[in-house]
Amino acid sequence: MPSVTEYFGCLSFDDSAMRARLPKDTYTSLKRTIDEGKSLDINVANIVANAMKDWAIEKGCTHYTHWFQPLSGVTAEKHDSFISPIGDGKIIMEFSGKELVRGESDASSFPSGGLRATFEARGYTAWDPTSYAFIKNKTLCIPTAFCSYGGEALDKKTPLLRSVDALNRQAKRILKLFDPNTNVACVRPSVGPEQEYFLVDKELYDRRRDLIFTGRTLVGARPPKTQEMEDHYFGSIKPRVEAYMQELDEELWKLGILAKTRHNEAAPAQHELAPIFTQVNISADHNQLTMEVMQKVARKHNLVCLLHEKPFAGVAGSGKHNNWSLSTNTGINLLTPGETPYENAQFLLFLVAVVQAVDDYQDLLRVSVATAGNDHRLGALEAPPAVVSIFLGDELTAILDALESGTHYDPMEKTQLKLGVHTLPKLPKDATDRNRTSPFAFTGNKFEFRMLGSSNSISDPNTVLNTAVAESLRQFADKLEAAEDFDTALNNLIRDTIRAHKRIIFNGNGYDDAWIREANEERGLLNLRSTPDCLPYMLSAKNIKLFADHKVFTEAEVESRYEITLENYCKTIHIEAATMVDMVRKEILPAVMAYTKAVCDAGLSQKTFGVDTSYEEELASRLSGLICSMRDGAAGLEAAVEKAEQFRNVTDKAFAYKETICTGMQSLREFCDTAETFTASAYWPFPTYDDLLFGVR
Ligand code: ADP
Ligand code: MG
Repeated sequence: MPSVTEYFGCLSFDDSAMRARLPKDTYTSLKRTIDEGKSLDINVANIVANAMKDWAIEKGCTHYTHWFQPLSGVTAEKHDSFISPIGDGKIIMEFSGKELVRGESDASSFPSGGLRATFEARGYTAWDPTSYAFIKNKTLCIPTAFCSYGGEALDKKTPLLRSVDALNRQAKRILKLFDPNTNVACVRPSVGPEQEYFLVDKELYDRRRDLIFTGRTLVGARPPKTQEMEDHYFGSIKPRVEAYMQELDEELWKLGILAKTRHNEAAPAQHELAPIFTQVNISADHNQLTMEVMQKVARKHNLVCLLHEKPFAGVAGSGKHNNWSLSTNTGINLLTPGETPYENAQFLLFLVAVVQAVDDYQDLLRVSVATAGNDHRLGALEAPPAVVSIFLGDELTAILDALESGTHYDPMEKTQLKLGVHTLPKLPKDATDRNRTSPFAFTGNKFEFRMLGSSNSISDPNTVLNTAVAESLRQFADKLEAAEDFDTALNNLIRDTIRAHKRIIFNGNGYDDAWIREANEERGLLNLRSTPDCLPYMLSAKNIKLFADHKVFTEAEVESRYEITLENYCKTIHIEAATMVDMVRKEILPAVMAYTKAVCDAGLSQKTFGVDTSYEEELASRLSGLICSMRDGAAGLEAAVEKAEQFRNVTDKAFAYKETICTGMQSLREFCDTAETFTASAYWPFPTYDDLLFGVR
């Protein structure tokens, strides 16, 4: 087996492959496109296509595909082989610049939210040269953007790239103000997404239709033990899981993905994988690929990887922490406070730009993570609340307080952490402790946005974050460029921004009910509990203007995304309700009835001997009560779905799903879970929470 340094990136047409295979001037010209966003000439594309094809064929490829991220949330691909006939029944393997740069595909089966009527079914994919092509199985995959005939974005990559441009434009204006001779050519967001997931045994999974159809359990009584002992988090990894993690890392490394950290998470059967951060566009592509590879490798180990936000009620759900910072092409992180943050005006300006952005667009940040799955997670065990706030830590908060009130800031002493054992090294103590409960935490030199669900694409939240920060920076640059005295204007701007937006800063416990009340009632922060509650904010004039001003979305594109998100929400819950009704009628009720019969039979035969039958009688009557409740619950749920489906307006429909169907499923579930606790194990028709959560041994 070759070493990691040898095989890392062997399936990625990365910088070293390009350098080795492209003529120097082609390489330089492509590099300029990648690094500086210069447009690409077709002659260059022809040469690149040919080199890519030769590289892919040497690695066993027969096909290529434009790989893209439609609004369904998963990736899409349509394979074409390289073959081209040359007469005499012979073929050659061909791949042109035109085929590399643009693809045309029937887009009518992808969600478009009314942007593309079916008579105009053409969609285009366009090569994104900033993300490396890679090989999956025997297919060369080319990362592409996907848009309609009229140029409207039908995917997640296009707006992300637009937002990166918007942020770059505004950040460079600010850097020029601090240094008119700056050599920074571009500023880009860097992102490292920490990915949580569950692993369950494949044989158990196959017997749970809720897991198969919806990715989560719809019923299941709490096992005697879950995560209360806190023994799983960072616990030693079971050999079977470790073998999985090892193969997963190896597969990711081959693709050039910087898989770095792996560990057990809070809930039993829950784990995490974190890569090393990279620029956001690549990070988004890599995260999509990572999720795909996670599922594929799991099958080889007779496991199933669950990426749902809440596969199990009552234990922690899975999120994806989005670590975000801003770096220049010269390698400087603009969110690094340095030794003396209180004197670092440029850092403070970028910091307050983020504070303002998160306050002004808290609604859009919430919207960007809204899915039916994530609604179960936000505000529940070990997940941030649905209220957006920022954790800055004591030191930065004290600095901002001093700046706001115009008082002198007394730098806190950096103390040393004493471990009480002489042989251990002395660790410098971080100026701030960690806060695990904040939805948006400053963690040293980056912000960690923790509201993302584990299955979310990271593109949506980063599109919002980039655009919102671009807007703060635009306002700042407008003011500062017009100022007569830069230093005075800068000081005033920082102070005024803190004053106007400090309500969003909260360093306390985000899980506390008192905080939710304070946030909502005293500070006026939004608490948007569910997808239908938050989505309408997307269409507010302020938000449409934000996206239009920065050329990230047109109004029509925003509206289409609104429709698609809510449609998707309704469809998800529809499938869940239908699955649940089916499981109740075809599996749970027959099982409980069979057990009830056994109990009655036992009671009857005991009676003939004059034995006490009070237990059998009580149990049978309790079970038969539950049988009736489940029957009624299932019928009620079915009727509610039918009614919800009659709404023509998607907003009304989504509210109906939330208000009648989610609640109906919850109450039906309670009957099922109670029935489970009274039914003998031998009768229960599918694996229980005990089996699933503790089944990987
Ligand atoms: P935690 O302690 O929260 O688990 P780590 O410090 O291990 O986090 O980092 C988590 C993620 O943050 C990793 O993906 C890491 O690469 C990423 N990260 C670190 N520095 C930056 C940065 N400057 N910008 C963006 N992401 C970063
Ligand atoms: Mg983290």
